[in-house]
Amino acid sequence: MTTKVKTTITEAEWEVMRVAWTAETVTSKEIVAVLKDKMNWKPATIKTLIGRLVEKGLLATEPVGNKFIYTPTVSEEDSVKNVTLDVFSQMCNKKVGTTLANLLAEATLSHEDVRLLEEVLAQKKKEAVDEVACNCAPGQCNC
Ligand SMILES: [Zn+2]
Repeated sequence: MTTKVKTTITEAEWEVMRVAWTAETVTSKEIVAVLKDKMNWKPATIKTLIGRLVEKGLLATEPVGNKFIYTPTVSEEDSVKNVTLDVFSQMCNKKVGTTLANLLAEATLSHEDVRLLEEVLAQKKKEAVDEVACNCAPGQCNC
């Protein structure tokens, strides 16, 4: 579903990225301030995570005075989308509809969210096929 080379973000790294996405530019001190209580992590742990994200190219780093500032190189929306598409690429195409329905049933949604979904669904209704084609290797589903 997605052809570009994926960079995986671990759950712990995801916590750091959320702080960076929210602040847009951020120092390690600011990241530590947000996460040390929430995650019960030591500053050294958080700095290791920041270092890994810099190595992965997900945070750009720039020295300013005697500290470094970090800026996300990928958007939160694209990152969330990639992770979600990854999950769907690991299942039979025929199961995607049911999986989406299950996810929707579990989600707490605003009126605005529902309106957006109705828009997408109206479009999907126009494009719907009689049967979704299976994309699996023999032995990996019962299609
Ligand atoms: Zn299949």
